[in-house]
Amino acid sequence: MKEKVLMENMSWVEIKDAIENGKKTVLLISGSIEQHGPHLPTGTDTILGYEIAKRAARQLGNTLVAPVIRPCLSEHHMGFPGSFTLSSETYHRVLKDHCESLANCGFKDILLLSSHGGNTAVLTAIVPDIAIKLYGRANVHLIDYLSLSAEAALPFLEEKGISRAKAGVHAGYSETSLMLVASPRLVKMECAEKGLDEESFYDPVNLSRSQIDTFILGVKHYSGNGVLGDPRKASLEVGEKLMEIVVTAVVKAASNALGATPP
Ligand SMILES: [Zn+2]
Repeated sequence: MKEKVLMENMSWVEIKDAIENGKKTVLLISGSIEQHGPHLPTGTDTILGYEIAKRAARQLGNTLVAPVIRPCLSEHHMGFPGSFTLSSETYHRVLKDHCESLANCGFKDILLLSSHGGNTAVLTAIVPDIAIKLYGRANVHLIDYLSLSAEAALPFLEEKGISRAKAGVHAGYSETSLMLVASPRLVKMECAEKGLDEESFYDPVNLSRSQIDTFILGVKHYSGNGVLGDPRKASLEVGEKLMEIVVTAVVKAASNALGATPP
């Protein structure tokens, strides 16, 4: 049987024993509940966050996974039914209270990650405040795994002939392939449709501008079906390789943050 790492599946006794036996690091993911096109569930970022964190925690050792925070910041998806959002102020307080609870459990290192791009800017901005509040009790680290893994996956996707626009940034080829690994029964490939696939939108030079524009005008303005990318040829085989790339990027960044050599 695989080692238990998800805190919400463990009893308080198991958690206490795990921490006392050295599992003093915890991964806390900010996910989302938001539309992911006609073919993926609204819990996609939460499901992927859990899957990635679970695999990374097992590789890191001495690490547990906190309940994924969701909903988080999805204002730009509110044009679609099924999307939920917190305000930035509420998110800040929710995240702080989660970190306080984890410090209270006895964790010494809290690794903050986001499985949803819409959280990243606010998460990055509030980490110093939380780190100050927990100073002396727990260390707070930030890992921007979405950027790290997007960069790490690029050579592989290029080799496969998948453009940035097809890979996409939301419910496209990459995310759909990852979901075929994490939760295949929730993927409706027969409903997969092409979304926004203009190369210029995804060009690294324009990408942060594109993201701000979707925050201002909403994703629906750019893509009527909510897809940013083209998921139609997504595959389990590619998903498995992408999952490996993402988990490796998380483990490497986490090991660096903790001052350890990656296992
Ligand atoms: Zn997503």
